[in-house]
Amino acid sequence: MRVLVLSDIHANLTALNRVLDDASSFDAVWCLGDLVGYGPDPNECIDRVQQLPRLTCLIGNHDLAALGSIPLHRFNADASASIAWTQDHLTAASSAYLASLKAKTLMPPFTLAHGSPRQEVWEYILDHHGADRNFDILETDYCLVGHSHLPLGFVRFPGESYCLPVQLPVDVHLSLTPRMILNPGSVGQPRDLDPRAAYALLDTEALTWEPRRVAYAVGDVQERILDAGLPERQAIRLVGGW
Ligand code: ZN
Repeated sequence: MRVLVLSDIHANLTALNRVLDDASSFDAVWCLGDLVGYGPDPNECIDRVQQLPRLTCLIGNHDLAALGSIPLHRFNADASASIAWTQDHLTAASSAYLASLKAKTLMPPFTLAHGSPRQEVWEYILDHHGADRNFDILETDYCLVGHSHLPLGFVRFPGESYCLPVQLPVDVHLSLTPRMILNPGSVGQPRDLDPRAAYALLDTEALTWEPRRVAYAVGDVQERILDAGLPERQAIRLVGGW
């Protein structure tokens, strides 16, 4: 099965549509949360994601905040202004959909979590220390996470008590070996100084992971962000990928 792995779309419909075009054919979609927040198209992104084939979708911290389940003071000023805007614009149907989602699910040999298997909503896996804390409790061979907006991978070989970072060149098929933690990066707000939308293609039979990047019309999204009255910083950062 060819699985399109998405995360952190953040209400950026232009980036989402570009990724769906670029990925072209896939059998299933695994979306690792944060459909909304920051961007101008929350309802459109939720509608589009729901139409995707064999969808497994998680909820992220921004989605939970948009539902009022996380207080806004846990976010920085710009993020919380965007969440407040999202709360004002989410339709009842969009809210109901988000409220139906979980932040972690087991699909052996994969665990899917927004943040991490240990703390599915909030923990960022950014380095080998964080990855090791999660390998210690991981119940499956592989774990896919989002949340950091960074395409990252870690491997812990059998019998070892520490992990190593995995290089993830774009468009190169990585062969999966037990055990690995992988992040596809962010569709709607990449933070690795590459403004192109990030995603990954996972082959669950061949056990390969292919990191992908695709450029999209950032200017169109910036225009909608500013027209909507969202913080200008959310528009500026998309050009630099931070
Ligand atoms: Zn996010």
